[in-house]
Amino acid sequence: KFIKGAKEQKELYNKVLDLKGNIRVFCRCRPLNVEETAAGASMTIDFEAAKDGELTVKSNVTSKKTFKFDAIFSPQANQAEVFEDTAPLATSVLDGYNACIFAYGQTGTGKTFTMEGTEESRGVNYRTLEELFRIIEERKNAVRYEISVSVLEVYNEQIRDLLVSGSQQGVKRLEIKQDGEGMHHVPGLVEAHVNNMNEVWEALRTGSNARAVGSTNANEHSSRSHCIHCVMVKGENLLNGECTRSKLWLIDLAGSERIAKTEVQGERLKETQNINRSLSALGDVISSLATKSAHIPFRNSKLTHLLQDSLGGDSKTLMFVQISPNENDLSETLCSLNFASRVRGIELGPAKKQVDSMELLKYKQMVEKGKQDMKNKD
Ligand code: ADP
Ligand code: MG
Repeated sequence: KFIKGAKEQKELYNKVLDLKGNIRVFCRCRPLNVEETAAGASMTIDFEAAKDGELTVKSNVTSKKTFKFDAIFSPQANQAEVFEDTAPLATSVLDGYNACIFAYGQTGTGKTFTMEGTEESRGVNYRTLEELFRIIEERKNAVRYEISVSVLEVYNEQIRDLLVSGSQQGVKRLEIKQDGEGMHHVPGLVEAHVNNMNEVWEALRTGSNARAVGSTNANEHSSRSHCIHCVMVKGENLLNGECTRSKLWLIDLAGSERIAKTEVQGERLKETQNINRSLSALGDVISSLATKSAHIPFRNSKLTHLLQDSLGGDSKTLMFVQISPNENDLSETLCSLNFASRVRGIELGPAKKQVDSMELLKYKQMVEKGKQDMKNKD
């Protein structure tokens, strides 16, 4: 049902687990919907011919084109199958690595379906957290973990905290800052502590419900905003005292289709340009990374600024490029596939484990020893 390179499942699993050197790219194609089928739409993706991780796009108007990806999911692949290849990242995050999973593509190609999913058919966000908690349970005698979740949105180059109730939103201006270790974060963002999957589901639902609030057109809003989940993991190894602190970003990007600039003016024009800005800045960052340019323009947009740690090198990054099979969407499909191919070509440095510094560790051990000595005296 889903097509991979000649390598076996196990090999792909390990590849995602040690994810380094490159950004991995998975391609997922949605099925034709009822209307398209009724209208007799023709498919431009040849899944019969898909093999060795190679996807073939054919049509009457352009010549045949092929693209290589790390995994290709046909319209029949279900959420569990898609997640199987994503799951190893959960282990990495618990091992102390930063990771980032993002969905890119034209509006209506299944970005939200892949990341958020539906209540019956949950997506990568929920499943990744479920996998985190499964492993935490497995490791409970060796490592103590703390998990918290933030949900935010970037719309019109403004950051909105989706875990804050509507009336409180906009009260504080959220900005991206760098902490002492040079990591990027958003001070003031709500961090919901989650201890189990019920609490996770609660937080995800709150975020999802807040997304469209206050917008006149919910569909347009969701197609033009970036919805971002940040999962923060603190781990303390009870056996050797090692402490890790890592982050997982889960991102449902705005639609990649170019917005027609002709009819909009004034406020709306500014908004349109801003909305384009984060995605076109992402494109610029990708290009600069691909050509190993000395200056990578991360700061040109909120999105790229936030993702600097993830795209900048020491993280494990996975991108879903979502496409439509419909011939009518061919030009956007080709744009997305070309973009995804460029992303796949980027070489990142080796992923770096996020461990507390040796000094801090020694200090903690000293404190621990002090406590122990006190106890022994009693
Ligand atoms: P996007 O977020 O990219 O705009 P959506 O996730 O909202 O797209 O998907 C558009 C529609 O297509 C939704 O109704 C969604 O349920 C459906 N859909 C997308 N991908 C799939 C899939 N792989 N299988 C079944 N339905 C899908
Ligand atoms: Mg969407």
